[in-house]
Amino acid sequence: MKTLILHHDDCLRHEPGVRHPERPARINAVLNGAKNIPGTEFLPAPRATLEQLQLAHAPEYWERLVELEPEPESRENRMAVDPDTFLSAGSIDATLRGSGAACFAVDQVFAGKAKNAFCAIRPPGHHAGAATAMGFCLLNHVAVATRHAQASQQVSKVAILDFDVHHGNGTQAIFETSEEVLFVSSHQMPLYPGTGYPSETGCGNILNLALPPGSGSTEFRTAWSGQGLPALEHFGPDLVFISAGFDAHERDPLGQLELQDEDYGWITSEICTYAGLACDGRVISILEGGYDLEALASASAAHVTALTG
Ligand SMILES: [Zn+2]
Repeated sequence: MKTLILHHDDCLRHEPGVRHPERPARINAVLNGAKNIPGTEFLPAPRATLEQLQLAHAPEYWERLVELEPEPESRENRMAVDPDTFLSAGSIDATLRGSGAACFAVDQVFAGKAKNAFCAIRPPGHHAGAATAMGFCLLNHVAVATRHAQASQQVSKVAILDFDVHHGNGTQAIFETSEEVLFVSSHQMPLYPGTGYPSETGCGNILNLALPPGSGSTEFRTAWSGQGLPALEHFGPDLVFISAGFDAHERDPLGQLELQDEDYGWITSEICTYAGLACDGRVISILEGGYDLEALASASAAHVTALTG
């Protein structure tokens, strides 16, 4: 079976500003990196439904975002919803394709139509809370898709593994009282958003692997081999999500970790091995950060290649 790659041109329509690091060219870099990898199948991402969004987000929050979206004719206009987070004309469709891709990936994998999936979407999602936009994120795609899987498939236990350089504070906040969801995040600390201390353990379902600036392959692999992957094995999930940020790469301008392309291949292969034992290899990966286009292309290609393996 193939590895699905879900994408949609609507994800290029979200324009937070010409100098904003979370820019449309990121998606072109990812798709160019993945286009010649054997064992992949590219499909368009549908929009998430209102019912799906409301599994993880407050209805009033979504209504407010829709109201704030600038009109198409005011192409230059941006509406700030957070110091770093903006809505342009097209942002609503873009973020709907993100959550829609993740939910569609769940359905395809459980229907046996794909081995696993990678959602090449933007804007990212892991800083968004149930009713808060934050850190370039509007909807928390992995949270929406987790709840969608639990609501629509024979799924109770879901593991979310986040290796973005930033702590996935929105995901943690949404699930910190959910015993049926395991959240493991490796991230640089100190760094934005300032959360993700190892002392933050939720209801025993949160594991934060904080890495000091300058950490590279050795520290990253030690943290996951020593703590993150054993926690995944112990939890025994029915489904695994990856919040796949590539901003811990040594080339990335927003973080000070020193990961190489090979580290992304390694962690992905390790996750797939554990998922193969626990849940027939059901892994759905969702693009989060990654702001150096060259590193984003090569690291995400290593990630997708490992998914196809
Ligand atoms: Zn990030």
